[in-house]
Amino acid sequence: MPELPEVESVRRGLAAARVRAPVRTLWRSEHRLRIGKHWREENLEVLVGARPGPVRRRGKHIIWEFFSRSSASNAEKQKPALGLLIHLGMSGRCGIARSAEPRARHTHMMLRFEDDRELRFVDPRRFGGLRAGTLAKLRAAPPLSTLGIEPLDPAFCGAELQTRLGASKRAIRDALLDQHAVAGIGNIYAVEALFIAKIHPLTRATRIRPTAWERLAKALVQVLEQGIANGGTTLKDFRNVVGEVGRNQDDLSVYGRAGQPCPSCGRPLEGFTHGGRSGVLCPVDQARPRGGWVR
Ligand SMILES: [Zn+2]
Repeated sequence: MPELPEVESVRRGLAAARVRAPVRTLWRSEHRLRIGKHWREENLEVLVGARPGPVRRRGKHIIWEFFSRSSASNAEKQKPALGLLIHLGMSGRCGIARSAEPRARHTHMMLRFEDDRELRFVDPRRFGGLRAGTLAKLRAAPPLSTLGIEPLDPAFCGAELQTRLGASKRAIRDALLDQHAVAGIGNIYAVEALFIAKIHPLTRATRIRPTAWERLAKALVQVLEQGIANGGTTLKDFRNVVGEVGRNQDDLSVYGRAGQPCPSCGRPLEGFTHGGRSGVLCPVDQARPRGGWVR
């Protein structure tokens, strides 16, 4: 599943396309996306006639802002009032194509702009989500309204992380995936950060000390920034905006490397599964705490 660095790579790709021409037409496949209750009303037709503005990101969501069509008042024309919310789900991709380019299989949405370019959303497994509306409404409603702090926000630190997760009885790896606490982190970057911070992934969050929260916060920022610099991690499904693959998988320390030597101590890395999600740890560098871990 695309995590913050992958979504950020897609966002940068969309922004770099510098689309400024208004939306001429909307095409949507007949297939529903399966992301869940907050996404049923897609409302995409409000974007027809609107002019694209900045592309932003919040957690794992892309928010493409649009200026209202020309019938709007002058004030509305100067500030983007509309937004297109995109969630890539498990296997979603989106990018800008020329309208003459062949359509990929599993294309589910196309916004054609007046300059004959198109935003295309492709999603073989259909766990992604699309929704449009006024920015005010999008921001005030779930999922955006429920998201926790951005880990790349300057206010993010160990104390902040402890405030949000320190009362959780869950294993720290699982607690880190809670988008209501911290937005954008998924399994890959959680596993990587816990290795760098030398914390056993199944340590109960309540048992983590302030110094370890501080190490963890720094490690999260480090792995996310590295992931962004590498254009994201490409596992099974993720492709960035132009179909290129990110190369962060080559720089992962432990994820996907069970049985290989630990990059720090050389002992074999161990795989584990908890709560239906796999992970990897170093049994030496991330020693299991005595008591205080979640079975
Ligand atoms: Zn080690």
